[in-house]
Amino acid sequence: MVVQKFGGTSVADPAAVRRLIDIARAARTRDGAGPVLVVSALSGVTVALLNVAAEAGAGRVEPALSHVEELRERHLAMARDLAGAGQAPDLAALITAEFDQLAAVVKALGVLREVSPATLDVIAAAGELLSSRIVAGALVAAGLPGEWVDARRVVITNGLQTRAVPLMAETTAALGALVAPLVDAGRMPVLGGFVGATIEGRTTTLGRGGSDYSAAIVGAGLGAAEIQIWTDVDGMLTADPRIVPQARLVPRLSFAEAAELAYFGAKVLHPSTIHPAVERNIPVRILNSRKPEGSGTLITAESTRGAGSLTAMAAKRDLTVVDVTSSRMLMAYGFLRQVFEVFERFQTAVDVVTTSEVSVSVTVDDRRHLDAIVEALSAFAEVAVEPEMALLCAVGDRLRGDPAIAPRVVGVLEEVPLRMISQAASRRNITVIMRQADLPHAMHRLHEEFFE
Ligand code: ADP
Ligand code: ASP
Ligand code: MG
Repeated sequence: MVVQKFGGTSVADPAAVRRLIDIARAARTRDGAGPVLVVSALSGVTVALLNVAAEAGAGRVEPALSHVEELRERHLAMARDLAGAGQAPDLAALITAEFDQLAAVVKALGVLREVSPATLDVIAAAGELLSSRIVAGALVAAGLPGEWVDARRVVITNGLQTRAVPLMAETTAALGALVAPLVDAGRMPVLGGFVGATIEGRTTTLGRGGSDYSAAIVGAGLGAAEIQIWTDVDGMLTADPRIVPQARLVPRLSFAEAAELAYFGAKVLHPSTIHPAVERNIPVRILNSRKPEGSGTLITAESTRGAGSLTAMAAKRDLTVVDVTSSRMLMAYGFLRQVFEVFERFQTAVDVVTTSEVSVSVTVDDRRHLDAIVEALSAFAEVAVEPEMALLCAVGDRLRGDPAIAPRVVGVLEEVPLRMISQAASRRNITVIMRQADLPHAMHRLHEEFFE
């Protein structure tokens, strides 16, 4: 049995859901059971819902409600198109109830004028709760034993709203109690991705792009044979295709390489996706739902040494570099602790770190607490902040064994002013930081050198 996750574009409209149905049917024929389906919100819906919350919280209740009505109509139209006469009335009633509740929340926010993270999660979760209902109904209408499962009863998380962390023991128990019996009974369970709930039943979400993570959690918990991520590109590509259109498919990746690429910006995979798969040693495959005959990218524990010098690249934009300089750093201990304590206090993750004799530079992509961080650091050091920076990360298991690759990467970028250079202990990636404006040129240069 495999777990299949379909991203937003792979459930965007009735034609996409029909492709999904064919893909699920083929997996069932092949395996004789399952699959278990995890689906994202219809393309664009999460962003639309977050905008509705912001509008309502700012007191613009009328436009927020009219956007709710647009979303209601889009979902009802999908349901009408996909659900046969038997399913349609029930599905329409469920969709209507969900949107009535959403409209009530919007009106309340207009009065309260404040959107708490918990409210934001309730609103955002509606996208996946709705899409999963529609897909389950469409499967039944197509003669398959689809069965909707409420992800809030299965993916049990801590209480960190908008970026909750799953509690694996509780989640595995819930999967065993609610989903495994359905598979055993020959059903095809359908869950919304991205969505979970605390033990007390408060709705949470796993962070943007989190449906991949849901699929991995479900796959690991059920001991699936494979976790498939169905999306709108052929697999993991050698570079972000929005920057390098000639990027090529990477047929094989190791778990370690995939984790680095996802962490450093390859949006096709949510950064947490690989960890549950590693724990149970379950292969992950990235596939194109518009070209289901493709072989995609297969990600396993095996190292990909023997392929080209580099395996792929990833990039992250909108980073800020923070330089912290103090002569007290000279030969002193405790300085780095003091610096990182500030970032910890403001719950801000640091991506890349480099140091010199008297300074430490870090990159952050979460700017929410930046002013407070700078103020706190300024109490004991000089602080300089540089926005609009980008990170480019070249990844490959071969980097570990071949000392000539890293200098080649830096050499190719000789005309690009590099702000930071880092190679971590894993020696599986080399990461450089530059001005955002230089990123496209740098990516093209590296791609030419290593992949063309
Ligand atoms: P989904 O909605 O299916 O989860 P996403 O938009 O989250 O899809 O991820 C797929 C997108 O990731 C692709 O359309 C592509 O633009 C982007 N992407 C960025 N880097 C890469 C990469 N290295 N390989 C493949 N896709 C990438
Ligand atoms: N719908 C959510 C988002 O857009 C989760 C996902 O699609 O992975 O972030
Ligand atoms: Mg995604």
